[in-house]
Amino acid sequence: MDELRLREGWSQVWTVARSGVKVAALLFLVAIDVRVEAGSVADVDTKRLLNADGEPGAWFTGGRDYQQSYYSPLSGINKNNVRDLGFAWTYDIDAIAKLEATPVVVDGTMFTTGSRGEVYALDARTGRERWKFKPEVNPDVMRTLCCGPVNRGVAVWRGKVYVASLDGYLYALRAGTGAVAWKVDTIQDRSRSYSITGAPYIAKDRVVIGNSGAEFDARGYITAYDTESGKLAWRFFTVPGDPKKGFEHPELASAAKTWDPNSRWDVGLGGTAWDGMAYDPVLNLLYVGTGNGVPQQQRLRSPSGGDNLFLSCILAINPDTGRLVWHYQTTPGESWDYTATQKLILADLAIDGQVRRVLMQAPKNGFFYVLDRKTGELLSAKPYVNVTWATHVDLKTGRPQQTEQGDYSKEPKLVFPSTHGGHNWQPMAYNRDTGLVYIPAIELPEIFGMPSTPFVYRERRVNRGMLVLLPVAGPWGLDAEVAKHWPSIDVLSKGQPDYRPRTFLRAWNPIQQRLSWEIETTDASGYDGTGVATTAGGLVLQGRNLDELEGRLAMVDAERGVELHSIAVPGSIHAAPAVYSVAGEQYIAVLARGRDRGHVVAFKLGGSPSLEHHEANRDVAEGQPPVPRVGTAEQIALGEELFARTCVVCHADPSRAPDLTKMSRQTHDDFSGIVLKGTRAGRGMGSFADVLSETDAKAIHAYLIDAAWQVHNRKPGNTLSNNKTR
Ligand code: CA
Repeated sequence: MDELRLREGWSQVWTVARSGVKVAALLFLVAIDVRVEAGSVADVDTKRLLNADGEPGAWFTGGRDYQQSYYSPLSGINKNNVRDLGFAWTYDIDAIAKLEATPVVVDGTMFTTGSRGEVYALDARTGRERWKFKPEVNPDVMRTLCCGPVNRGVAVWRGKVYVASLDGYLYALRAGTGAVAWKVDTIQDRSRSYSITGAPYIAKDRVVIGNSGAEFDARGYITAYDTESGKLAWRFFTVPGDPKKGFEHPELASAAKTWDPNSRWDVGLGGTAWDGMAYDPVLNLLYVGTGNGVPQQQRLRSPSGGDNLFLSCILAINPDTGRLVWHYQTTPGESWDYTATQKLILADLAIDGQVRRVLMQAPKNGFFYVLDRKTGELLSAKPYVNVTWATHVDLKTGRPQQTEQGDYSKEPKLVFPSTHGGHNWQPMAYNRDTGLVYIPAIELPEIFGMPSTPFVYRERRVNRGMLVLLPVAGPWGLDAEVAKHWPSIDVLSKGQPDYRPRTFLRAWNPIQQRLSWEIETTDASGYDGTGVATTAGGLVLQGRNLDELEGRLAMVDAERGVELHSIAVPGSIHAAPAVYSVAGEQYIAVLARGRDRGHVVAFKLGGSPSLEHHEANRDVAEGQPPVPRVGTAEQIALGEELFARTCVVCHADPSRAPDLTKMSRQTHDDFSGIVLKGTRAGRGMGSFADVLSETDAKAIHAYLIDAAWQVHNRKPGNTLSNNKTR
């Protein structure tokens, strides 16, 4: 409504301006500014969130509602007519990295993000740009990202749009204009490797933000700021600092008792809250998922063991005070990168004849949890993927029963799930009509083991303290040098579940804790699957990717698990779509990562069947031989070691960073410039000149060319990079 008035207003401005009466135009601009100041554009508040069903056309938060359900009550696009879906519009985003945001759509405007905290405000009906915001981002941060430059979207609240930049600043923008209302530095110690990839969340009158960096040397925390002024309200650390230096808040004194006094306080310990949060306005509780430890092998981090609170936890915090109300730890003594940062869904479920206000999460550790969200009581937990690090979760104690198979501290073990988790950041969705949760599930183990050399803390570097290998052929898997010293996959996988990497769309009944149906969604775009949304039209919406540059949006019957239709899009889809309506017409919008730019793609019934600027060109033609080999065997071996220590955390998964066995001629030519001079810092690859010498870069290059030949010489179909049908 406001939006229509605003548009009409603008056309009046131009009519008036053309007739020369500039004063009227100026007065109107002032009027708009006053309206924006008063918060009448995108004026989301608690009342509107609580009445979200009364505004089915809006997508208010990342997960649409305060429950973060990724469910739209719209049914105009449904099982019966989904084949009539076509393109409504597209909008190009200046980003080449993976796009992980689900747009927020409110009052006719769509707000979404690029890969470093850029914000795009678009007319949700036409895709026309209203404004865009580009934060200045220090390229140094690119170095300390585990999984590429990404951003998971905005929060919209009372006329402001909140976004965090990759380098750790939180911005409040005016929703009508994109002007910066305030900006704060959320990083308390810039000598450590913090970054932000998550979206801000709103809890009453606070905007809350966490951070990333637990593969490096970050000590996790979340901070709450006053939504209006940006003033810091409170900060909650997710792990203690060195007890000798005292504790910032009382919860840390009790948390410290779950750590060895000789823990590696110097390394930061991790626990970063980099993605999932939710806020229940009725209970006035903010829920936060926390991340893995660092070093990741507990024996290096907290030698005598302990639960290591608050790693891998779900925290319930009073947003007024910042005090902890309850916590639940999913993985005590975390050693497998099992974050509990995955998105949290709030729902009311009838359990044993009683309606319970629950919180649901499918964290990386492979168990699906249902907790009473008022008390934190564990109601149920069952594996939604293959799990071998634990046998089950004891409902009385709330604790998992860990297994010998999960202990890789003495010898390498094949462990399910992998460091990718049974489910990662990609949103799952809850459909209250079917009663099912749709999980983008990952069936993938990894071989976990210890390096042969003792752990040495390296500042602002990867400090995992353990090694993982994918159970696939190829340079980052079974052909790695270390694999030659470890037992073979045949030995390691004996008696274990199927270790082939696969992804599934799993429809999970959260009350019965069992699988209702599944579709295999394995593709070659990476290991993690893609985000999910669901609708009252009986649909589950999810991306499928041919590879990192070409995907399609699939529409699945929410009850039966049958794919009804799909539409090809110019790029790979990773995030969940948003579903909304403007002026009575329903749309589905999703972000796609293209070759040299990203796209926002919107669909509607009766839309255009194809896009004109579909991108078909690729970085490297498939099947062409790599560039000629360089370097000696010693150089290649050194390159492999350096690569494993410095590069593999990003570059082993093509959805996170380019597959370096498929480098273009141009990339080969500028290899040392890229690695040492930061010539691609703008694209997410910062300079490593402070940790790698010219000799090191040459060795890594020689190793990568060797690895490319290994891949090339293998029969097509045997490796991740060549396999399109796995
Ligand atoms: Ca991690």
